[in-house]
Amino acid sequence: MSDIAVIGLGHMGSALAKALVTSGKSVTVWNRSQGKTDALERIGALKAETPAAAIADSNTLIVCLSDYAATSIVLDEAHATDLIEGKTLVQLTSGTPKQARNLGQWVEARGGSYLDGAISAWPDQIGGPDASIVIAGRESVLTPIAQILKLLAPNLSHVGTDIGRAKILFNAALSYFAAHWIGFSHGAAMYGAEGMDVAEFGEAIAALSPMFADDVRHMGRAISGSRFADPQSTIRSVGVDISRLVEIADDLNISSAFPEFAADLFRSAAEAGYGAEEHCAIFKVIRTR
Ligand code: NAP
Repeated sequence: MSDIAVIGLGHMGSALAKALVTSGKSVTVWNRSQGKTDALERIGALKAETPAAAIADSNTLIVCLSDYAATSIVLDEAHATDLIEGKTLVQLTSGTPKQARNLGQWVEARGGSYLDGAISAWPDQIGGPDASIVIAGRESVLTPIAQILKLLAPNLSHVGTDIGRAKILFNAALSYFAAHWIGFSHGAAMYGAEGMDVAEFGEAIAALSPMFADDVRHMGRAISGSRFADPQSTIRSVGVDISRLVEIADDLNISSAFPEFAADLFRSAAEAGYGAEEHCAIFKVIRTR
């Protein structure tokens, strides 16, 4: 039996398997497409021919596939219902909290143990000091394999027994990054349309980054305590500024999709009566459908 089996060898799964092998663990690997096991076999991983063989080969299974639908396909193909008893399945595939809870129930109903995690790292960072994994599940399941998971990410945080919790944290952060990527790209399009160097824009935003840390901390506290009444900038004033981005996009002949979307949200918040409150009071029009 191997110390661990890694199911799914895409960019992330391959990085996870490599970090485990180079840390001296015995690792069984399986991937749907041929060829992705080759490099890992050369450094000592054992190739399983089927997902069932991978599951049979270790009591600790790491799954890292595209999504939970792919996970279901692989578990069905493996007839995992008959194999999962006594095993610990660590799901590191991204998905929704509901999917995590459903899979956790499925595994536990068949006598297995389940941990659900989310990775905050690029594949290149796996095994290095900057990699983070948050894990949800019972501490009694995590403790025996925590040292193995720390080989992947020294920053391993247990976020409680609610099996959906890791995916909430991951997806909330993803929401933040989605706006960050789109907002940066929109600003870059403005720079580009004016013939300016976008690399300089990256430097300018990087110089502001300490302010962002303070602002997100402040917003977290303000929203958590429902304290929006002492603003340094208001929904109304920020909304006017954001509406101007639509005009600039038209002038520069670039997409106005992002500023229209943002201006619309701020307009809704002002119309709902929050115009004099601080910018993160926008939360109030987002928290309900
Ligand atoms: P990827 O490179 O696209 O790999 C996807 C993996 O899923 C491959 O092994 C693929 O097999 C497999 N797969 C997809 N559908 C399948 C099916 N129906 N049956 C069997 N296998 C199937 O993706 P990735 O970057 O490794 O990401 C994997 C997970 O890690 C995702 O949930 C992602 O959100 C998460 N993650 C990734 C990163 C990152 O930076 N890459 C960071 C954090 C979290 P084939 O090789 O046969 O196609």
